[in-house]
Amino acid sequence: MKSVKLGEHKFQEYLSAEVIANKVAALGAKINNDYTSDDPPIVIALLNGAFIFAADLCRQFDFECQLQLLRVSSYKGMESTGKVKIDHDAEPDMNNRHIIIVEDIVDTGNTLAAYLPTLKTKGAKSVKVCTLLLKPEAVQHDLELAYVGFEIPNKFVIGYGLDYNGRGRNLGAIYSIMANK
Ligand code: 5GP
Repeated sequence: MKSVKLGEHKFQEYLSAEVIANKVAALGAKINNDYTSDDPPIVIALLNGAFIFAADLCRQFDFECQLQLLRVSSYKGMESTGKVKIDHDAEPDMNNRHIIIVEDIVDTGNTLAAYLPTLKTKGAKSVKVCTLLLKPEAVQHDLELAYVGFEIPNKFVIGYGLDYNGRGRNLGAIYSIMANK
């Protein structure tokens, strides 16, 4: 089993790059079934964590799509701060468009619970969420998640875009924190 060390923490491989790639392909196929080039969605990827997932996912699409990267933040180290900052200035015009929000991971759900209601006034035809990872034991909000890659235990993970204090995003696999001995 592969492991990596970041600072004082050790992480072990949890989802290999191959397992992730297969899941991204499966999610892409599902999304291709739900949209057409006549009325393609705008894909809004929430930064920083979702940048790699969004890049891989949108290359699975058969339809031509607009991709917008949107900076949101709520995490410091391994804890959600509960306060969500959203860069609304970077939002595209959503009027009369389908929207797919792409998240790396839904943990407490604070980010989506803060962001999704703000879309209600933007005139979108539909809003769906695609998240690669979901921690069902950690979610504190009733969220509708149209596309979910993996349900995972309530443990801190890194890799494939996910960081620990800015490190680990470039790892191809996803790694789960190991107990400190
Ligand atoms: P939520 O608002 O659902 O609690 O978390 C949203 C954001 O927190 C995610 O998009 C991600 O950036 C960060 N986050 C949540 N859980 C984890 C985790 O296990 N590892 C890392 N690296 N980031 C996480």
